[in-house]
Amino acid sequence: RFAIGLSVIGLGVLLVMIGIFRHLKIRQERRQTSELLAVISKNMGESLYATDIYGNITFINTAACVLLGCNCDSVLGKNAHHLFYAQTTGEDVCRRLLDRMENGPQVHEDVQVFRKADGEVFHAECLSTTMIVQRRPVGIVTVFRDISRRLARELEMLQMTNELEHANKELTRLARIDGLTGLANRRWFDESLQRLWRRGLRNNGELSVLMVDIDHFKAFNDHYGHLAGDECLKSVADTLCECCKRPGDVVARYGGEEFAILLPETKGCDALHVAKRIQALLQNQPIVHEMSPILDRLTVSIGISSRKAEPGVEVVDLVREADRCLYRAKAGGRNQVVGLLEESHEGCSQING
Ligand code: GH3
Ligand code: MG
Ligand code: MG
Repeated sequence: RFAIGLSVIGLGVLLVMIGIFRHLKIRQERRQTSELLAVISKNMGESLYATDIYGNITFINTAACVLLGCNCDSVLGKNAHHLFYAQTTGEDVCRRLLDRMENGPQVHEDVQVFRKADGEVFHAECLSTTMIVQRRPVGIVTVFRDISRRLARELEMLQMTNELEHANKELTRLARIDGLTGLANRRWFDESLQRLWRRGLRNNGELSVLMVDIDHFKAFNDHYGHLAGDECLKSVADTLCECCKRPGDVVARYGGEEFAILLPETKGCDALHVAKRIQALLQNQPIVHEMSPILDRLTVSIGISSRKAEPGVEVVDLVREADRCLYRAKAGGRNQVVGLLEESHEGCSQING
């Protein structure tokens, strides 16, 4: 009986010792795990903090404290939203995440403005995740990183892109205009001619072309000088623009002292009125030209050609026709308008070629 009793006691002591040993082993394993976690979170490059469901800090790693410029121990228990959220949006995120908890763990990614301990603010990219223990929300863990430099770089890139776009637009504009007069240049005129002709083909519209050439301009230049000649060209350019104000009209410097005008959806007769207006304006605001054998002021000769857009017709023919009319105006004594119009309009007959 004694031997049996001793065996039972021995067995009991053995079982207790096994229990104690297992308990110690589990504690040691847990301690090792938590030490490992502490080492990982301490050494991880990402900043991380955890809060309870009210936003009170329960854990914060070294990277987060370094970034925020605070002491890790002193922030524990303080409210993260009041401590380093520069805007109130942190609380909203927290509430939204917790409200949706019944649908399972929630993740929210956004950019917040954080305030460091010294008051400096920075943009932080945050990834917040709900922490659930035994199906109960216990808080939120947030990983964040300072993206201020990235944002500044992106802003710089955006500014550079905008500046480039602006410069490109300016280059395109400069490639289209004549430096002296600011009118469309020959290249833009040629492009516009094709474009307006195609538009005419689509809407069965009529296109008029005016070629305007200053009379005896060489004599003007020789007498008043090249600079005065330049001023004169600018002044004539202004007069032409004054007379062609419709949005689709194109006034171009065709070369030297010759200008070309495109008047879309304009019949020959109306183009003639524009030509007459140009002459009238030059008469009302005269530019003195003492060396002109025609009058004592500057005059122009104008050739007009006008046509309905038709397939198979070369649009350059329209310019050639206007040029021929201009030649005839010159040959006819200058300071006049000659037009090759498609139809005979009342009041236009005198210029029908
Ligand atoms: P016409 O009546 O037959 O047209 O005679 P014109 O003297 O006007 O024509 P011509 O072709 O003999 O001379 C044109 C002059 O235009 C010669 C040139 O000095 C002048 N000219 C061309 N381009 C410019 C310019 O950009 N500035 C100045 N000041 N003169 C220019
Ligand atoms: Mg001339
Ligand atoms: Mg000329």
